[in-house]
Amino acid sequence: MLFSELGLAAELVRAVSEQGYSTPTPVQRQAIPAILNGRDVLAGAQTGTGKTAGFTLPLLHLLHTQKPKSNRRAVRALILTPTRELAAQVGESVDTYGKYLPLKSAVVFGGLSINPQIAQLRRGVDILIATPGRLLDHIAQKTVDLSQLEILVLDEADRMLDMGFIRDIRKILALLPPNGHDGRQNLLFSATFSDEIRQLANGLLHKPEQIEV
Ligand code: AMP
Repeated sequence: MLFSELGLAAELVRAVSEQGYSTPTPVQRQAIPAILNGRDVLAGAQTGTGKTAGFTLPLLHLLHTQKPKSNRRAVRALILTPTRELAAQVGESVDTYGKYLPLKSAVVFGGLSINPQIAQLRRGVDILIATPGRLLDHIAQKTVDLSQLEILVLDEADRMLDMGFIRDIRKILALLPPNGHDGRQNLLFSATFSDEIRQLANGLLHKPEQIEV
């Protein structure tokens, strides 16, 4: 199977081929068509499987082809990660794969001054990559508008729970617009599945396509 056979926009296939990838990995072969079909996804995938491109590529495709829910300067896709390092890495992937699309992204995490992040959010961001604590700071300061969110990704959900972010995650989820049919598309990636992860997934995901690699 080739990347060009997955139904992704030509701009994305071009960016991927410039990365030198010849074929999609197993998680990409399963996740990309499911996400393009609008399905919620529950994926068991470790780092190193190509999971980041597995959600980033279809997310970029959907934002490129779907009309925004409003003309307001609101975030259209939110990717939550457990650590700054992972947030930065995912941000780089979004930039790399999205280089031929006119979508704007920003990465926000703690430990850095919040003001430049606020300025960037004010200019308008389609895709926001964030760690939970700093996102809650932005929500509290009303510097981020999540009311029009189309896609939510929880990346490395098991690590987020291990690091004690469950309450932050639940707070964030409670602040998002309602879920369900015609609502937001939700993707949860995790290397392991505890009862707590399953509970989180059950509350968040609507008839998810389950992927194991
Ligand atoms: P990840 O599991 O998302 O952390 O990705 C692991 C590494 O695999 C990253 O360095 C990617 O650049 C690389 N990668 C992702 N997809 C592919 C692919 N289809 N073929 C070759 N390398 C890939």
